[in-house]
Amino acid sequence: MKDIIHMLKNIFDRQQNFKKCTVHPKNLDVSFEEAKNIILNSVSPLSAENISIMEASRRVLFEDIVSDIMIPHVDDSAVDGYAIIAADTRGASKNKPAALRIVGEGQAGGAITGKHVSKGTAIRIMTGAPIPEGADSVIRFEETEEDAGYVKISNETAKFNNYRFAGENIKIGDKVLQKRDRLRSADIGILASLNYNAVKVYRQPTVSIVSTGDELADISQEIQAGQIRNVNVCTLYSEVKKYNGIPDCLGIAKDTLQDTKEIFLKALKSDVVISTGGVSMGKYDFVKEIFSDLGIEMQFERVNVKPGSPCAFGKKDNKLIFGLPGNPVPTLTSFVQFVRPALLMLMGAKRIEKPIVHAFLEEDIKSARAHHLVRGYFTIKNNEFHVSTTGNQKPSILRSMSAANCLIILPEEITMARAGEKVAVQLIDHDEI
Ligand code: AMP
Ligand code: MG
Repeated sequence: MKDIIHMLKNIFDRQQNFKKCTVHPKNLDVSFEEAKNIILNSVSPLSAENISIMEASRRVLFEDIVSDIMIPHVDDSAVDGYAIIAADTRGASKNKPAALRIVGEGQAGGAITGKHVSKGTAIRIMTGAPIPEGADSVIRFEETEEDAGYVKISNETAKFNNYRFAGENIKIGDKVLQKRDRLRSADIGILASLNYNAVKVYRQPTVSIVSTGDELADISQEIQAGQIRNVNVCTLYSEVKKYNGIPDCLGIAKDTLQDTKEIFLKALKSDVVISTGGVSMGKYDFVKEIFSDLGIEMQFERVNVKPGSPCAFGKKDNKLIFGLPGNPVPTLTSFVQFVRPALLMLMGAKRIEKPIVHAFLEEDIKSARAHHLVRGYFTIKNNEFHVSTTGNQKPSILRSMSAANCLIILPEEITMARAGEKVAVQLIDHDEI
């Protein structure tokens, strides 16, 4: 019934808009793609800050990193062995090994003791030690025998054997990392090897998390008859942390206009506000009313997506305000589809899409006339991608979300997907590409 009233109101509004012609009020019912585009066009990256590289995991670079040194700095040895002149091993065999006099030793990070290598001599060196002057090859310990100050080599050895060449890892002037790259462990290792101890990254967005509903009890509270746990604050806190936002849980607003307004007033100090519940057509759903009361410029109020069509997004100054649905599954799926890319863009990231692959569906799925996101489990069998659903798809069933590692995407125009067909699958546990 509510849907029919909503639909009629919509048709009426559209007709009014058409008649007026001179004004273009926004249609706040949007398709999934429209909702995503609206959000992505609303976000400008935040400013920069300097942080220790030890804290930089998954943060986004604000600067290009160009090397002013060579790594390795000099030619050094890739193995523990002997630095020799390759030509000294010419004709060497098991029966007639080359015997080279050991004249010194070189350690990684330490100076070389003894002389440089000259014809008929060798210097014992460790992995990472610079190649001593005069040598042009390194033979590994395992391929030699040492006896009375001599090393015996039974194979001919080529020049530059077991060398790590100066600059083969990084050369002077190499742009090793780029502005807007999201730092992973190997990247942080590169920064360390280039002598960075701090690095310039985009600031983390502060994110206020607001819960609405008389029925909710936080995990710190004793639960009363008729109450349910405030699950969404926990799942959202976990998601915000995962994407390096700074979450601030503002608590639960009772289902009154005043309580809802007060909590949103506090929340608006953050870069991003995420609320859950109270955004639908219920008698006590005040969130949209409060948004307009607070001067938030609404961009959409309803998205043709399942689950989670009651989903609002607005802007005030540079702040992004998301009114997500109350049910725990659409809270999460809406976060993944809409809030997550916005957080990543605020943090300057250029890779914001979860990977989508095509997989063979293992069962029939009846779809709605909406962008349908079905909780699924994705596997690889005989080098092919397969996907099945994780059971009950009601928006309140968090268990099937917990069992899922992907979302099967059935676009608006599809009403039925059959077993054996290939379907698009969004890998929600994988990094953005
Ligand atoms: P609402 O849109 O406020 O009517 O909420 C829709 C459904 O989601 C109701 O069954 C609520 O009890 C439930 N819900 C709302 N907020 C939360 C929350 N923070 N944690 C768990 N369930 C919630
Ligand atoms: Mg509610």
